[in-house]
Amino acid sequence: MISKKIKHISPSVTLAISAKAKSLKKQGVDVINFAAGEPDFDTPDYIKQAAIEAIKGGFTKYTPATGMQELKEAICEKFRRDNALVYAPDQIAVSCGAKHSLYNLLQVLCEEGDEVIIPSPYWLSYPEMIKLAGARPVIAKTDKKTFTIKVEEFRRCITKKTRAIIINSPSNPTGAVYSKDTLEKIAELAVSRNIPVISDEIYEKLIYDKLNHISIASLNKKIYELTFVVNGVSKSYAMTGWRIGYLAGRPEVVKGVAVLQSHSTSNPSSISQAAALTAIGSDDTSTRKMSEEFEKRRDVLMEGLKNIKGIECAKPQGAFYCFADVSGTGMDGLTFSKKLLDEKHIAIIPGEPFGLKDHVRLSFATSIDDIKKGIERLGEWVEQ
Ligand code: PMP
Ligand code: GLU
Repeated sequence: MISKKIKHISPSVTLAISAKAKSLKKQGVDVINFAAGEPDFDTPDYIKQAAIEAIKGGFTKYTPATGMQELKEAICEKFRRDNALVYAPDQIAVSCGAKHSLYNLLQVLCEEGDEVIIPSPYWLSYPEMIKLAGARPVIAKTDKKTFTIKVEEFRRCITKKTRAIIINSPSNPTGAVYSKDTLEKIAELAVSRNIPVISDEIYEKLIYDKLNHISIASLNKKIYELTFVVNGVSKSYAMTGWRIGYLAGRPEVVKGVAVLQSHSTSNPSSISQAAALTAIGSDDTSTRKMSEEFEKRRDVLMEGLKNIKGIECAKPQGAFYCFADVSGTGMDGLTFSKKLLDEKHIAIIPGEPFGLKDHVRLSFATSIDDIKKGIERLGEWVEQ
């Protein structure tokens, strides 16, 4: 009964394990949740208020399929303010989360048999979305310890069938932030081979060590023309459940996304759009506070992991994940995470769906107290 297309797609492990951790907690089990793929902060009140007002004011009908004009204008203003990028509203499509934006983009860009290059470790939805678009994911390896991108590796992966390169800085699952030099090299390569770049910048505002986020599209006019920037409100404003993401790029591709969306989901929720309009138009005080708190948590987690034998981990500079090599414990990532949940009630995500079997992903979107408690439990368990 089920199509081949769907049979070859794996379910999202991140969503499955996060759901299991939440459900165990509900049953009263003392779970330490290092699996979360979303901020544990609540959506700020002023954003919620905008949604309440939208409901009361009757803003409860269809909007244009790829979002209302005011929101597109606010997104253009955000790109200008934060990323020095100039877009017109017809270059913006708003969708039901950045995941949906990425999905749509791949559907619109890819032909059957095309190839899309992704650096490994990668966010686990990329390969599955690429397959759903009829294309084939091609994996570019990064440095196993630092996760630094080697542009030569990208070059090696390019064939006549290459349709796009996906980059993701700050990265899920490694927290790596691409340097300007790396971005320039990727841009140079993409421009010289005329390959579109999909730049997933969903974690742009969760960035540490006083680093600044750089969008590859802002480097020069040529790479601007080839880049599709994907972003959203999920991570920056703790709005994962509201489902608003967006993309920006060439108008003809954005038009393609509009056609696809007009026959699939139609517009993202009008109420969520009203909330996103307030979020994107506001100053970033609450986002900055959240980011500062994540940075403190990262430091506590890294300090704790340093003292656990058999676990090695590069320091993340953005997002809220670290990607640790656990091969020194004699276990692969899958065995490690399964046993850890069963025996110590600590939820983490195995590295395999992100492209590295010996690794696990730990999220620090959880309280400092839980991080400390989790590290203690983890240390005792590994020692045993
Ligand atoms: N890209 C990356 C790298 C992510 O981690 C996520 C989080 N799920 C998304 C895109 C999509 O986020 P959303 O659909 O909630 O906007
Ligand atoms: N981006 C999050 C994660 O990687 C959310 C889960 C998902 O959308 O897959 O955990």
